[in-house]
Amino acid sequence: MKTIGLLGGMSWESTASYYKAINEGVKQQLGGLHSAKICMYSVDFDEIEKLQHKGQWDETGIILSNAAQSIQAGGADFLLICTNTMHKVADQIDASISIPILHIADATAEKLTADGIKRVGLLGTKFTMEQDFYKKRITDKYDIEVLVPNEQEQDIVHDVIYNELCLGKINPESKTKYLTIVGHLFSAGAEAVILGCTEIALLIQQQDTDVPLYDTTEIHASAAVAIATNDTKN
Ligand code: GLU
Repeated sequence: MKTIGLLGGMSWESTASYYKAINEGVKQQLGGLHSAKICMYSVDFDEIEKLQHKGQWDETGIILSNAAQSIQAGGADFLLICTNTMHKVADQIDASISIPILHIADATAEKLTADGIKRVGLLGTKFTMEQDFYKKRITDKYDIEVLVPNEQEQDIVHDVIYNELCLGKINPESKTKYLTIVGHLFSAGAEAVILGCTEIALLIQQQDTDVPLYDTTEIHASAAVAIATNDTKN
């Protein structure tokens, strides 16, 4: 079995979901007492969040590259950056290590492609919804059109992530707001919606809506399990 590298702590609330999903996936694949081989480095999110909101992305890239090097030195065979937003500096991190990065947008877009989805809605931080590093990759590499909420709705989605979900607060009013926004994306033509922030599945789940939801945490974790267990099953 391969060792999965996790660059976590962004926020730890979602890294806990990764840890659980990966171990459950390995148990499902291999049975018995099997559990995942994981090497994790969990950063202090306060430092990262402050730099993000000041636009100091290179600084975040240095912190995350150092962490990624520790993960590599700890024996990981490949790396997951356990946040959609910080894939903004995925190239910077990639250049600092020799193990491969399993990119969260690739794992998600491959599942969308397998399911025949050609137009998808995206919820995430404003960085993820506004900037090109995530949407453009999905559109250019996989030919999938990406729709985002209007600006006011983007603010709601963003604020709930940082002020509630990353702090472990689950607010029923925020859930209602998110589901309304999912409905608007569907009305605008999205065939499905990407939960493009690793905490969103703490708030809304598939049973809450008929619109197909693609939870990036779950997809990323299960893609990692498939890679890690591939050589063990045969
Ligand atoms: N976990 C979130 C994401 O997937 C947001 C926290 C962060 O800014 O990294 O984008």
